[in-house]
Amino acid sequence: MRYIEPHGHMVSRVTDDYVDMVTAGCACVCEPAFWAGFDRSSVNGFNDYFCQLTDYEPKRAAKFGLPHFCWLCINPKESEDLKLAEEVIAIIPQFLERPNVLGIGEIGLNKNSRNELKVLEMHVDLAARHDQMILVHTPHLEDKLKGTRLIIDALRSDQRIRPERVIIDHVEEHTIQLALQAGFWAGMTLYPESKCSPARAIDMLEHYGGERLWLNSACDWGVSIPLNVPYTALEMKRRGWSAEDIDKVVYQNPLEFLSQCKKFRLPKHRVS
Ligand SMILES: [Zn+2]
Repeated sequence: MRYIEPHGHMVSRVTDDYVDMVTAGCACVCEPAFWAGFDRSSVNGFNDYFCQLTDYEPKRAAKFGLPHFCWLCINPKESEDLKLAEEVIAIIPQFLERPNVLGIGEIGLNKNSRNELKVLEMHVDLAARHDQMILVHTPHLEDKLKGTRLIIDALRSDQRIRPERVIIDHVEEHTIQLALQAGFWAGMTLYPESKCSPARAIDMLEHYGGERLWLNSACDWGVSIPLNVPYTALEMKRRGWSAEDIDKVVYQNPLEFLSQCKKFRLPKHRVS
């Protein structure tokens, strides 16, 4: 089996997770910028984090033979402080040319507040000005539907944004169609407790088909399972999916989306 982990917060994982992922057939991992579990106190905290994502973590992944890419932003949970958000967004351009940076993400909304929406629009403008792809985080539970609608409206109202270069992540049964119908890609996050289980994800894949969809484990510092993409592939096999159809969802689809960024290249021997 081969697969791509398109959304994994590896800074919160141990080296054994890298070993397990490579052993299971992981071809590369992509790491969006996210909340650290606490609010950073200044722009310097973000500067250090962006250095970690673009310098240290790719080196750590390379020790296990795993290509590492990342996305940069100030995440929605820390977007209430507009002054801090402006300062962080101002330092992002100096990191965009680094070889493992794929775009702006994971941006979006958390509580659907006015300030979060303003910071989302600032990020969308940043992505448009620098011709960057976008990875979107959608809110949890009761905030998800309203938040997804607000995010899609914000993206569609900026004429510079091409939907095929945007992925709306953490979709569930009630939001997947909104993202796909608007022309975006959609991601399903496989969590053991919330978001989406493997069985629910496969149900959605069987209902909507395998186009413009990917699976990820998000594997962060909370309760999460770094191998949930290959575990889901095993469940797909058990449910009668062909090897080709599984490969399309767990490898070819993320490869197609991510390859829109010129910097996204996998070592030759890994590409069929
Ligand atoms: Zn995430």
